This record gives sequence, structure tokens and C-alpha cells, in this order.
Amino acid sequence: MKHYNRVPLTNRTLFRRDQNMCGYCGTVFPATRLTRDHIHPTSKGGKNIWMNVIAACANCNKTKGNLTCEEAHMPLLMLPYIPNRSEWLILQNKHILEDQMSFLLKKVPKNSRLL
Ligand SMILES: [Zn+2]
Repeated sequence: MKHYNRVPLTNRTLFRRDQNMCGYCGTVFPATRLTRDHIHPTSKGGKNIWMNVIAACANCNKTKGNLTCEEAHMPLLMLPYIPNRSEWLILQNKHILEDQMSFLLKKVPKNSRLL
């Protein structure tokens, strides 16, 4: 089950998971203006995994720099999560047929931001 749910982390899927919203200021941006922020900075041992990344605008990412949320006084507006396989397919695909979409959506967990 765990293995089945392991899905690759890409900026495209990350930004879509977070609905193109910056996790710090809450502003919605086009994907081209978003960055991958490591919630616990990689310079401090934070990993590049779904649970440690959030979409952030360039400004917030720069302001936060190498600080933790506590140090930067920048609390997260939303929590990271690992999309399951069905959700990831939705996040990744540009074109999904309507009947495929309803099938996939049934398998998306309740905590998903897609629902
Ligand atoms: Zn921001």
C-alpha cells in the first residue's frame, strides 16, 4: 500500500497540490511565479519530500530564506501532504476524460485539496 502510493515529487504536481497558492502569504500565482519551498530548510537537514515542501511565491521564499517557519515568524497557511496515486494522476495530467476523472476522484483521499 505504501509503495503503491509513492508518487514522484515535481514542481508541477506540487504547485497543483497547493492550488497555485503560496503557503505563506496565501496569494494565488501562475506556476511560473511559484517556487518549491522546503518547510524545514535543506540547509538544516530538511528533506526534499512531499511532507517537507510547499508552494511559495518568490518573495516569501526569499524572506524565509534558510529559516524555519518559527524562526521566520511565517506560519504555514496549509499543511503539506502526500498525494495518493489517483490524485497524483489528476495533478499531473492536462487532459483527463470526464469518466476517467470521476473514477479517479473516487479514490482521492478526503484530506485532498482537490475535493
Ligand atoms: Zn507568498
